[in-house]
Amino acid sequence: EQTKTKKPNWLRVKLPVGKEYAKVRKLVDEHKLHTICESGNCPNMGECWGAGTATFMILGNVCTRSCSFCAVATGRPPEYDKDEPRRVAEAIQLMGVKHAVITSVNRDELKDRGADVWYRTVTETKKLSPETTIETLIPDVKGNWEALYKMISAGQEVVSHNVETVERLYRRVRPQAKYKRSLEQIKLTKEYGKRTKTGIMLGLGEKEDEIYRAMDDLVAHGCDILTLGQYLQPTRRHIEVAEFVHPEQFDIYREEGLKRGLKYVESGPLVRSSYHAERHVNV
Ligand code: SF4
Ligand code: SF4
Repeated sequence: EQTKTKKPNWLRVKLPVGKEYAKVRKLVDEHKLHTICESGNCPNMGECWGAGTATFMILGNVCTRSCSFCAVATGRPPEYDKDEPRRVAEAIQLMGVKHAVITSVNRDELKDRGADVWYRTVTETKKLSPETTIETLIPDVKGNWEALYKMISAGQEVVSHNVETVERLYRRVRPQAKYKRSLEQIKLTKEYGKRTKTGIMLGLGEKEDEIYRAMDDLVAHGCDILTLGQYLQPTRRHIEVAEFVHPEQFDIYREEGLKRGLKYVESGPLVRSSYHAERHVNV
């Protein structure tokens, strides 16, 4: 049984250390800034903040969806804060973030899927921090391509959209999403001219050949960058870990992904979709 399965030692968390990290840490505390790195208890904070990378979530913290791996609360979100783009842009400026990753919950109830807030967050950030590069990790717009184009036309360097798992596991893992629709969204993003990226969590019961099929689908739909990391169960109410994938298997997946035509593959047990994100700007 999963709860009795001991975490292997390669998942042991690295303590955040370093001068740059300490500097950012101080600013975050002083100004009470909010990052996903912290609220998600991410194991990579020392490394990411040290490199000037941090992740911010917009459009609130209640999601209209209920993905079985995700710790974000599900419900009907309250009205969103129209001033959020400015606040996030100021936090990025205060922290001196060199590469900002911005993500959001799903706001299926909004006609524009939150595209206006997305657009303004990126443009305000670029205004206050012109040197800062931006990755937008956008939600499934549910086929509202007008909303997609608004979200991706704000001058960000990378547009990611996570497919999260292999097609067979969608019903259990991402019940409100569709594998093919997410692929289509990536394809349109590429055709629009953006650098494209996606992420898959391993350890949910996917088979090796299903990963390879997903890689081929991603390449066929114009995906440039892929991240692969180990899924960890946030609480007992979330979907169980089926397997702790060995680090060597992650290496095999990286090689195979590159062979199959992906331009960059970030693959390892502690990889999160924004890990080493600053390296993806030049892919
Ligand atoms: Fe933050 Fe992402 Fe890095 Fe984790 S991997 S510390 S969430 S930027
Ligand atoms: Fe979590 Fe995103 Fe799924 Fe919402 S759509 S439940 S934020 S993974």
